[in-house]
Amino acid sequence: MHFDLTSEQQMLVETVRRFVETELYPHEKRVEETDDVPAELAADIQAKAKALGLYAVNMPAELGGGGLGTFDTTLMERELGRASYGLQMVVARPSNILRGCQGSQIDEYLLPTIRGDRHDCLAMTEPDAGSDVRSMRTFARRDGDDFVINGTKHFISHADVADFVILCAATGEQGTKKTISCFLVDFDTPGLTRRRGPKCVSHRGYHQCELIFEDCRVPASSLLGELDKGFELMGQWLGSTRLQVATTSVGRGQRVLEMATQWAATRKQFGQAIGKFQGTGFKLADMKTELEAAELLTLRAAWKDDQGLMTDTDAAMAKLFASEALARVTDNALQIFGGMGLMDELPIERFWRDARVERIWDGTSEIQRHIISRALLRPLEQ
Ligand SMILES: Cc1cc2nc3c(=O)[nH]c(=O)nc-3n(C[C@H](O)[C@H](O)[C@H](O)COP(=O)(O)OP(=O)(O)OC[C@H]3O[C@@H](n4cnc5c(N)ncnc54)[C@H](O)[C@@H]3O)c2cc1C
Repeated sequence: MHFDLTSEQQMLVETVRRFVETELYPHEKRVEETDDVPAELAADIQAKAKALGLYAVNMPAELGGGGLGTFDTTLMERELGRASYGLQMVVARPSNILRGCQGSQIDEYLLPTIRGDRHDCLAMTEPDAGSDVRSMRTFARRDGDDFVINGTKHFISHADVADFVILCAATGEQGTKKTISCFLVDFDTPGLTRRRGPKCVSHRGYHQCELIFEDCRVPASSLLGELDKGFELMGQWLGSTRLQVATTSVGRGQRVLEMATQWAATRKQFGQAIGKFQGTGFKLADMKTELEAAELLTLRAAWKDDQGLMTDTDAAMAKLFASEALARVTDNALQIFGGMGLMDELPIERFWRDARVERIWDGTSEIQRHIISRALLRPLEQ
C-alpha cells in the first residue's frame, strides 16, 4: 500500500489549484454579495476550464469527456472545493446518471452536456419526501406513447440555469413501495414551471428552485434507463455525489485551516501570537488531524470505486465524517479569528455558513449513519 500521487496526478492537483486561485477566488466576494454568478462570468470560467481540460472530467474520453477515474476526479474536486460553490459548479461535472442515456438521448442530452452546451439538474426531493425518497408523490402516468407528469419538486439546485432536469417520478407500486423511474425533461416543456425557492444560508450564488409539473406530457423516449428501475439507476451513482460532498468539504477545510494557521501565527494578544496559547494551538492540531482523516477516508473510497469495490458504507462514511469534520473545522477557525471571524470582510463567516449544508444535502448525517449501521446489523438480524 502506498499513498503517493503519480506525477500526472500531482500536475492535475497543481493545475486545478492554480485555476481556482486565479480564476475563481477573485470573484468570490462579488458572488457572495450579489448572490449571483453573472452569465458572462460563468461562460468565461467554463471556456477557461475547457481549455485546460477540466470540464466534464468524469465523462468517458471517447464521448469528449476528461475520462478521469473516481480517484483523480476526487483529487480535482478537492481543489475545486476550496472555492465558492457557485463558482466551482460552473466547472461542471455532468451528472453521472446521464451515462444511462440511450438512442437519441445521447445526442440530445449526454453529448451537449459534456460539451457544456446544455446543463442538467437533478430532481428527487419533494416538500413531503426528503430523506424518505420513495414516498414521493410526483407521478408519471403512461398515456399511449407519452407519460403525463404531475407533482412538485423542491430544493432543486442549479435548476435556474439548467436546460433540462433529470426527474425522478413514481411510475407504479410494488407491494407497499412505489416504483420510481427517471425522465429527461426539457425546461421549455409545456406543463413544467420552475421558480426560485427561498434563499439558502449556504453557498450564495448557487440557487435552488421549485419545479411544478401540471399535466406535463413527455414522450416515452424521455425515460432514462428502464421503467420502474429509476431507484436502482440513481443508487448506482449516489455514492459518487456523496464523495463529491466529502472531497469538496476536505478542500474547503484545508483552505480554512491555512487561513486560521496564518492568523494564529500573526495575531498578537498579551504580547504574543495567539497560536502560542495552547487553547489555540490545540484547535489547529485537531483541525489538521480531522481533515487528514477525512481525506484518507474519502480517497480510499474513491480508490475502491475505481476497483469496483466501493460499498454504500464507504461513501457514507466519507460523506459523514468529512462534512462533520468541516463543521468543526470552520467553527474552530471562527473562534480563532474572534470577532473578525463573524465579519463579512473576511470569508470565515461564509465558510462557516457554507459548511452547514454539507451535513444535510445528498443524504443527512442521520441517513449516512443509518446506512453504515444497517450494513453492520443486517447480517446478524434473526
Ligand atoms: C441547499 C440544498 C440543495 C439541494 N439540492 C437538491 C437537488 O439538487 N436535488 C434534490 O433532489 N434534492 C436536493 N436537496 C434536498 C436534500 O437532499 C434534502 O434536503 C435532504 O435529503 C433531506 O431531506 P429534507 O430536507 O426533506 O429533510 P427530512 O427528510 O425531513 O429530515 C429532517 C430531519 O429528520 C431526520 N430523519 C429523517 N429520516 C430519518 C431516519 N430514517 N432516521 C434518522 N433521522 C431521520 C433527518 O436526518 C433530518 O435531521 C437540496 C437540499 C438543500 C438544503
